[in-house]
Amino acid sequence: MSPLLDLRRPDLLRQQAYIDGAWVAASDTIAVINPATGTVLGRVPALGEAETEQAVAAATRALPEWRRRTARERATILRRWFELMHAHGADLARLLTAEQGKPLAEAAGEITYAASFLEWFAEEARRTYGETIPGHRGDLRLLVQPQPVGVVAAITPWNFPAAMITRKAGAALAAGCTMVLKPSELTPFSALALALLAEEAGVPAGVFNVVTGLPQGIGAVLTGDPRVRKLTFTGSTAVGKMLTAAVAGTLKRVSMELGGNAPFIVFDDADLDAAVEGAVVSKFRNTGQTCVCANRILVQQGVYDAFAEKLAAHVAAFRVGDGLAGPTDQGPLIDARALAKVERHVADALAHGAKLLTGGRRLPGDGHFYAPTVLTEATSAMALAHEETFGPVAPLFRFGTEDEAVQLANDTRSGLAAYAYTRDLARFWRVSEALEYGMVGINTGLISTEVAPFGGIKESGLGREGARQGIAEYLDMKYICVGEV
Ligand code: NAD
Repeated sequence: MSPLLDLRRPDLLRQQAYIDGAWVAASDTIAVINPATGTVLGRVPALGEAETEQAVAAATRALPEWRRRTARERATILRRWFELMHAHGADLARLLTAEQGKPLAEAAGEITYAASFLEWFAEEARRTYGETIPGHRGDLRLLVQPQPVGVVAAITPWNFPAAMITRKAGAALAAGCTMVLKPSELTPFSALALALLAEEAGVPAGVFNVVTGLPQGIGAVLTGDPRVRKLTFTGSTAVGKMLTAAVAGTLKRVSMELGGNAPFIVFDDADLDAAVEGAVVSKFRNTGQTCVCANRILVQQGVYDAFAEKLAAHVAAFRVGDGLAGPTDQGPLIDARALAKVERHVADALAHGAKLLTGGRRLPGDGHFYAPTVLTEATSAMALAHEETFGPVAPLFRFGTEDEAVQLANDTRSGLAAYAYTRDLARFWRVSEALEYGMVGINTGLISTEVAPFGGIKESGLGREGARQGIAEYLDMKYICVGEV
């Protein structure tokens, strides 16, 4: 273990999986690497089909008792889990930065955000109302009763190692479901620390299981086992499509939170300083590795040069480095593959006529660091116009009219988040209604909150997380028809 980790509760770094309320070791393990230093932080079991089947069996056994509990009893446990996350927030943030790389302040922000889903769904648990329907005959009474879907499989990515878990587990457990979670093999420690706190909060054995390991074997059971009634996935569009096809054999419910290609539109009438601020948080947070981050920055002709200059000056001053070694504005990319993709996108853009204002190079050292980068004269001919760069690269596209901006913004198969900066009220309505996206930020670059429905349209996914819609994803509506009344 890295001495830099310096946890107040060292036992929060778990190197075992968590199945049926027990900590499970294996001789076969996977190393977890700190992307800022290249050092091995620890190891987790490389589990496969047999252990995943055990976890599904445990979740199946635990289901009847868990779903029978009152919503209030489940809520009390979730609330305790939320409080424990806050009590150990500093340690959870250090673990998260160590395995994922984001600046410590951002990691602390993610822990608060992650915990907020447990609190929110603890509250929502008690409001999963059904309905009565006026009958079609006088002697009948029609009821609709929400019921938990059952055993849920969750597969989560590395870019938000804590929040992508609680956003699913909070809702599922509140609804009365049990869960088998496969976290990203790159960031399993946050998931395991959450499991320890869940256990301490009183989540019964089998209700929340964490299976660590490589995706294929675990994925095959989670998608193919008929006892699993729902798959909730956050990750890339390619894997999401594959998993959606894989669950067709057992026709599970699915929630898919997939990749984005967010446009960030700056109109001539925008407050330019606010737009630069918004672009910085939207684009560079988590080193540009968020599904909702601005991938294409579309700037109107009249403010293009001024915006470019301000943005470049801002990001050129970033402190880039290891979040555990001191205050930073930007951390490393997650791994060598991610760094190579960023390099490929920048080289391709330059080859197609983009101009480099700042950055444009990897930084020396053992970590996967890339300088914050601003490119001008970006066009649709470049790879970064069509694929998520998932890195600290802000490409600025130029446009003339509002129609052109909307057309450019919608010219993608993704539909997760979009942003626009304008001070014109009528334009705000026109543009926000015309954007083909699940979420739109107007005059803000930060939209995520537990109280609003998060999710995409088109190839960015199916379903919503957070808000009252989030718990509905884990409920089936049972219709009960009562005769002879
Ligand atoms: P990924 O698709 O590579 O991996 C996501 C998860 O799927 C990981 O746990 C991985 O181990 C697992 N996985 C991969 N192949 C699998 C298989 N064959 N069977 C079963 N599981 C498999 O994505 P990533 O690189 O970890 O995450 C980044 C992606 O996630 C980006 O595209 C990003 O936009 C997206 N994302 C979306 C949201 C959202 O809410 N829409 C949020 C965060 C990230």
